Amino acid sequence: MPTMRCRGLSPLAWLWLALVAAGPAAAQGVGAGPAPGTAAPAAEAVSAEGTDSAPAPAATAAADADEEGQGVALTDGSPADDGTLTILGQRITPGSRVRLDWSSGTTFSGEPMPVPVVVIHGARPGRVLCLTGAIHGDELNGIEVIRRVLSAVDPADLAGTLIGVPIVNMAGFSRGSRYLPDRRDLNRFFPGNPNGSSASRIAHDFFHSVIVHCGAIIDFHTGSFDRANLPQVRGDLRLPAVVELTRGFGATAVLHTPGAQGMLRRAATDRGIPALTFELGAPVRLEPAEIEHGVTAIDTLMSYLGMNSRMRMWKEPQPIFYESRWVRATRSGMLFSDVRLGDRVRAGQRLGRVINPLRDESVELVSPVRGRVLGMALNQVVLPGYAAYHIGEEASEAQAVRDAGLMPDAPVESEGMDQGSATEDEQEGSTEQVEDYNEDPAGAQGS
Ligand SMILES: [Zn+2]
Repeated sequence: MPTMRCRGLSPLAWLWLALVAAGPAAAQGVGAGPAPGTAAPAAEAVSAEGTDSAPAPAATAAADADEEGQGVALTDGSPADDGTLTILGQRITPGSRVRLDWSSGTTFSGEPMPVPVVVIHGARPGRVLCLTGAIHGDELNGIEVIRRVLSAVDPADLAGTLIGVPIVNMAGFSRGSRYLPDRRDLNRFFPGNPNGSSASRIAHDFFHSVIVHCGAIIDFHTGSFDRANLPQVRGDLRLPAVVELTRGFGATAVLHTPGAQGMLRRAATDRGIPALTFELGAPVRLEPAEIEHGVTAIDTLMSYLGMNSRMRMWKEPQPIFYESRWVRATRSGMLFSDVRLGDRVRAGQRLGRVINPLRDESVELVSPVRGRVLGMALNQVVLPGYAAYHIGEEASEAQAVRDAGLMPDAPVESEGMDQGSATEDEQEGSTEQVEDYNEDPAGAQGS
């Protein structure tokens, strides 16, 4: 793509040119919006069968149409009958590894921001597993997990396809920021809108260029705003295909969170693609233990999905399901913790203190239940209501699934909402200041 030609064009014009260059199918896909014939199945339709590698007849037809340039990009992305996979306008044969570029929006001067999309298309058929990182640009651990996983896979030994996008939000990453340059949270805009805000266009292009090819998605995150999370996967446990995916993670904590509107994993499951968030550690940092946990978990998942033959050994091979609640600061002051991430705590145990330096007062924060510290704030200055400790109570899978069905759905967040200007109600309701999810309505009300 000769960038010289494109100076002075509007972002929309640039996006259009990029899509034309990417191929007629991609351009039609963005212009056409959801295609009636290939519309997403409802979330209820999610099932293990729906994620099998065998392409459904309709999907194959759509993929064929793509190659002829007559279809739209909104297929389920399954490989064609001859085993080739066409993604970002490139046809990939089985047993090969390619590095493609997807443009994560443009710079102010109209230059594209190319993002590598690594596709390892295995020699044998199987699941299509997608790994996405740094949708929040300051969440770094997942970037390295994805790099290590991709570099260790040999396409000759792989059944199925691995698609890795280590840095989705390149603009945020390059500025060390969670957000896009306009302060929008990219993970509130999926599946996006080709005529919407800048964030919405980026989300739409990514969703329809890459995500539609996925048979399962693991989206890497960390705690936000000086909080750290014990390695944990989060997903909508009301969906059987999502529960099935969580079983492949070995000794990793599993939490039910339905996911707010606009989150990548929510948009994916709405389309029938099982998706999980994988939380690892804290933002801004690179943490070797968390990264190692992530790599081992994805290796274990690939074995579980039948994609590789290696078996990783865990001391505890089974995932551990938790039901969780947040403990919030009741006063403003400086937070000093007594506990560490992963600690097991008893009901009434002191988790930390909030010390007010102006009044020389100290207030204790205690655990309301017997459980485990799944997430916690780093020592810092806090205001009343700040979510300081995320305490999980162990539950059986059956119990976690049953209770997930009783939980209210996440409230709808308006697409135009800028996190920085959210009202107090929105902040409380969405627990945006906690992480991306509606964790626990009871906890959000301070109970
Ligand atoms: Zn995140």
